[in-house]
Amino acid sequence: WSDLTQDSVGKKLSGHQQVLLSPYLAASCAFLTHLALCAPFLVLDALGGVCQRVRSWRIAAGSGPPPSLWKWYECFWRVLFKYATAVLPAAAVFQLLRSPSLPELAPSCWRLSVEVVACFLLFDTFFFIWHYCMHRVPWLYRAVHQMHHQHHVPFALAAQDASSAELLSLLLLALGSAWMLGCHPLSEALFHFLNSWLAVEDHCGYNLPWALHRLLPCMGGAPFHQTHHKKQRNNFAPYFTHWDHLFGTYIAPQSHFRKRHDRTVMK
Ligand SMILES: [Zn+2]
Ligand SMILES: [Zn+2]
Repeated sequence: WSDLTQDSVGKKLSGHQQVLLSPYLAASCAFLTHLALCAPFLVLDALGGVCQRVRSWRIAAGSGPPPSLWKWYECFWRVLFKYATAVLPAAAVFQLLRSPSLPELAPSCWRLSVEVVACFLLFDTFFFIWHYCMHRVPWLYRAVHQMHHQHHVPFALAAQDASSAELLSLLLLALGSAWMLGCHPLSEALFHFLNSWLAVEDHCGYNLPWALHRLLPCMGGAPFHQTHHKKQRNNFAPYFTHWDHLFGTYIAPQSHFRKRHDRTVMK
């Protein structure tokens, strides 16, 4: 390469690095990703009013009709406000404190997969402990977690509808999991993206035929987490079911609702 080409490539790379390392990028991307992942469920909720097939996918554990568009609208402004006032500034401070550098090489596929799975297992463990404590300590529940449980029957956008303290604590747990494992930035980014997706799926209110928990029985999915929103004494882990099985807090999503769901599908 000529000096001129090398110089322009170098400038381009440092420009990209500046964007990637911007303290506001992670939280802005997290918010936009959350909205994008919720969009298909907004369509499903809107279709639910007119399409029997879509209604038959709803988890029937007392869920009733899909949430109204007004509910979505109200929830959107609440989540936006929390992101603007708490998550964005906190994520910016974390980013400045960490002052990360970007490695020149991407991780191998094997390393990427191992790190992402390890992140999920560690995050799932931290979340289980924290979530259990929030339900067992009354003042902690009132101060931090109660707001999330305003949704007796959750919907996709409600995955992030929680108090600022809870959103910040979950951000810390996610960042802490990736940091403790010394993940490559690309693995960490993929973990945060999949984490958003699974949180949305947990709260979506649908037991979809192609949902991940049907493929991987070690995961609870939306029926598992919706049972937590209904009962509040069980199913504390966010994604996997092993901790709840181990500590005796597991409860199967209500089977008679499943039977009713199956009958509806067969009609
Ligand atoms: Zn929830
Ligand atoms: Zn809870």
